[in-house]
Amino acid sequence: MLSPQNKILIITAPSGAGKTSITKHLMQRFPQLAFSVSAATRKARGTEKDGVDYHFISEDTFKQKIQENAFVEWEMVYEGKYYGTLKEELQRIWSLNKIPVLDIDVKGAIHVQQQYPQTSLSLFIEPPSVDELKKRLQSRGTETEESLAARVNKASYELSFKEHFNKIIVNDDLEKACIEAELILLGFIGL
Ligand code: 5GP
Repeated sequence: MLSPQNKILIITAPSGAGKTSITKHLMQRFPQLAFSVSAATRKARGTEKDGVDYHFISEDTFKQKIQENAFVEWEMVYEGKYYGTLKEELQRIWSLNKIPVLDIDVKGAIHVQQQYPQTSLSLFIEPPSVDELKKRLQSRGTETEESLAARVNKASYELSFKEHFNKIIVNDDLEKACIEAELILLGFIGL
């Protein structure tokens, strides 16, 4: 039996596929899970809080952490914006005897999987179509025309990596997708 110390749940998807909603649902359903707060160099949006949604840090600090080998993985997810999973964040969560949940981009997810092949579970949340994804991003109202185009282009690229992950969940109905994710997790948590 694996102890929670070894385990990592990775949830990845193109932006707008519903990854955050599914992640939140799983966090409520399973108290064994704890959200891994990433470091990011973008500015906080809306109600986001430092240390809760992200550790919002400067680009200089981020680069210093890269030098110090403080990240399990990091990526420039969008032009000029860095995001990374801190080793100490995983340690913090494991020390609570919980399983870290990483809501990260596709490349970062592949890197974490490579480092924890036996003890990670990766879920790829697939949008029903790129058109549907574009509509969802537009209705969120947080994107400029430029950032919307960047996210849609990136989404098409990221979809081509879906076969790298342990499970693919198509999110055409959020409730069904949440139930499917729950069932998969029951097996993983119970390992
Ligand atoms: P947003 O700016 O919308 O919060 O996040 C943009 C993207 O960055 C999302 O796909 C999110 O999953 C991803 N992301 C968040 N934290 C990390 C991280 O630590 N590493 C990587 N590689 N991607 C991340």
